[in-house]
Amino acid sequence: MRIHHLDCGPARPLGGALMDGVSPGAIGRLTCHCLAIETPRHGVVLVDTGLGMRDMLRPAGRLPTLNSALLRFRYDPDRTMLRHMKRLGLHPGDVRHIVMTHLDFDHAGGLVDFPQATVHVMEAEAGAAHAREGVLGRARYRPVQWGDTGRWRTYPDRPGGRWYGFDAVERLAGLPQEFVLVPLPGHSAGHAGVAIETPQGWLLHAGDTYFNRAEIHAAVPHCPPGSAAYEAVMAWSGPLVRAQQRRVRALAQAADATVMVFCTHDPVEYVALTAWAERLRAPANKNADAA
Ligand SMILES: [Zn+2]
Repeated sequence: MRIHHLDCGPARPLGGALMDGVSPGAIGRLTCHCLAIETPRHGVVLVDTGLGMRDMLRPAGRLPTLNSALLRFRYDPDRTMLRHMKRLGLHPGDVRHIVMTHLDFDHAGGLVDFPQATVHVMEAEAGAAHAREGVLGRARYRPVQWGDTGRWRTYPDRPGGRWYGFDAVERLAGLPQEFVLVPLPGHSAGHAGVAIETPQGWLLHAGDTYFNRAEIHAAVPHCPPGSAAYEAVMAWSGPLVRAQQRRVRALAQAADATVMVFCTHDPVEYVALTAWAERLRAPANKNADAA
């Protein structure tokens, strides 16, 4: 197994540190942290897809106007999953599975770029995406990005499995047991984390369960006010968001913590995970990819 951390939707919102907690000056940075995972027997597995090629080339009409204006994406085709994979020497046709944290426009935009892949998503999320209820539902869910929805494989809200005390879909159709879907509804109706067991331990891609690392990893949890406001506006259920953050915080901060937790949009986590993955692949650690 070999894991690539890829930013498939770099954004440069106004607000600097008010958005990301770290940038000097007026411009902040946010990522769309996706994974491309090379597996021995199941091709390339993606976790989320960020913005797709068509979003980058012609965003008008595909992406919600207000969100795009606030986030100020860099519309660069070289930042799509398709181009990232080509630079890594991976073939888009080898993507057989895409595991989705949720179906918001900034996560699902690349689905149409991989029409042969099975898409794994929680049933509640698929239902909410099709229903597109209210102003928020119509803004966040963009059917033009999805391609054929007949390839969606959905999973019930109470899937019966367990993972570190969380409800979990332990067996995703066609995927090995190293991939687990962990329902974390709150940001959206069927939002989930994606857990991956690696030779170095478990990763949890927590999606948009939180937006800034300080919400989960700081001794005193907090969030830069700009990100906190965006998070609140996009929340399907504020109380559930806070409840899921408490659970994920407990997992990440446990004295015997063995799970590496990260989210989609925090640029510092993204840099840290990218550097960590590259270090694993350095010549001195060449055995790390063997498993
Ligand atoms: Zn998002």
